[in-house]
Amino acid sequence: MIYDVIIIGAGSMGMAAGYNLAKAGKNVLMLDAFDPPHEEGSHHGDTRIIRFAYGEGASYVPFVKRAGELWKELEALTDESLFLQTGVMNVGEETHSFIQNVKTSAKLYDLSLEQYSAAEAMEKWSGLSLPENFVACYEPTAGVLRVEACIRAYKTLAIEAGATLHTNEKVQNIEAGNIVRVQTANSVYEAKHLIVTAGAWATELLQSMGITIPVTPTRKTFAWFEADEQLYRENVFPAYCFEFADSSYYGFPSIDGAGLKLGRHDGGEAINPNDPLRPFDEQDTIDLQSFINRFMPQHGTLKFGKTCKYSMTPDEDFIIDFLPEHRNIVIAAGFSGHGFKFSSAVGEVLTDLTLNGKSKQDLSIFRLSRFNTH
Ligand SMILES: Cc1cc2nc3c(=O)[nH]c(=O)nc-3n(C[C@H](O)[C@H](O)[C@H](O)COP(=O)(O)OP(=O)(O)OC[C@H]3O[C@@H](n4cnc5c(N)ncnc54)[C@H](O)[C@@H]3O)c2cc1C
Repeated sequence: MIYDVIIIGAGSMGMAAGYNLAKAGKNVLMLDAFDPPHEEGSHHGDTRIIRFAYGEGASYVPFVKRAGELWKELEALTDESLFLQTGVMNVGEETHSFIQNVKTSAKLYDLSLEQYSAAEAMEKWSGLSLPENFVACYEPTAGVLRVEACIRAYKTLAIEAGATLHTNEKVQNIEAGNIVRVQTANSVYEAKHLIVTAGAWATELLQSMGITIPVTPTRKTFAWFEADEQLYRENVFPAYCFEFADSSYYGFPSIDGAGLKLGRHDGGEAINPNDPLRPFDEQDTIDLQSFINRFMPQHGTLKFGKTCKYSMTPDEDFIIDFLPEHRNIVIAAGFSGHGFKFSSAVGEVLTDLTLNGKSKQDLSIFRLSRFNTH
C-alpha cells in the first residue's frame, strides 16, 4: 500500500505531527527506532520549560504562543495535567542579550513580565542567592510541561485517529521520488509524503540520501538535588534560566517532591547518536553542584544525574523546511535544546506544510538555505 504520509521518528515533533495528520483524515505511518516516550533521544527527564517572553529572540513568540494554545487543547482533549504554571525566572546581568530579548519579547507582544533586582528577588524567593548586579525577569504565566506525558497523550490520540505506529523499527535508507521509499530492517514502505523528525539521528538519516545538514548530536547532563520543600516546591519556587557571559543553566522547582532539577544548557561534547552515552560522572556533578551551591544554597545532596541528547545547529535556531528539490519531504530538526515547548505547534506546521505546502507561522528563520549545505 502507499501511505499518504510516513513520519520517521515519533518523538516530540513526530508524534504531534502524526496526530494532526491522522486527524485530518490522512493515512499515516509513524516509524520509530525505539518505543516513545523513551530514554534514548531528547525527550526524557520528566519536565521541560515553556516560556513565552523568548530570550532566544522575539521572532519565536507567535510560534510559542500558538504552542501554548495547543498544549491547553491537548490537556482538554485528554483530561490530563500536562502543564504546570510554575512561572519562569530569567536571571542574569540586565545587559545580557538573553535578558534584553526577554524584555523585548514581552514588550512587543504584551506579555506579563515582572522585573526584580537581586535583593527583591531574594526576598520573594528566599531559597535564592544572587549577586548584586543580577536581575530576575519573572514570567508568571510560563511554566513546565510534563514531557513524557505530552508525548504519550499525542500517541494515544494519533492511534485513536487512525495513525499506524511501528516501534523498534529503525529506518535505514530513504529513496526520494514522487513516491518516497523508506527502508527498515523489516520492510520497504511507500508514501506520497515524508516527514523526517529523527532528532539526534537526523543528520545520519539524511546522509543516506546524500544530504548534509549541520546538526550536531551533543551529550547533555542534568540532575536532581534534595530540596527543602518549604523553599523549593513547585508552588513556591519557579522554573529558571540563568544566563552568564560564558555559560547558561536552567532548572525546575521540586515537582511532586522530586527535588530541585538542574541542567547546563551550553557546551557538551559532540557524539555519535548510536553510541551509548557516557554516564553522568564526577565532572558533571562538580559542574552542576558549583552552580547550585552558589545560587540555591539551601539545597540538599545530589540525588541522581542523567544524560540526554541535544541536536545543535550552528546558530541554535531550528530547521523546519522542505528538502531542496523534494517538495514532498519536510524535515524538522536541530531543535538545539529548546524545542520541546514548540512541539505541539511544530506538529501543526508539519501538517500544513505537507498538506498545503505552506504554514501560517513565519518559518523564515528556520530555512535550511541559511546554511551552505548540499
Ligand atoms: C536534558 C534536556 C533538557 C531540555 N530542556 C528543554 C526545555 O526545558 N524546554 C524545551 O522547550 N526544550 C528542552 N529540551 C529540548 C527538547 O527536549 C528537544 O528539542 C526535543 O525533544 C527534540 O524533539 P525531536 O522530535 O527532534 O527529538 P526526539 O524527541 O528525540 O524524537 C526523535 C525520534 O526519532 C526516532 N528516530 C531517530 N532515528 C530514527 C530512525 N532512523 N528510524 C526511526 N526512528 C528514528 C528516535 O527514536 C526518537 O524517538 C531539552 C532537551 C534535553 C535533552
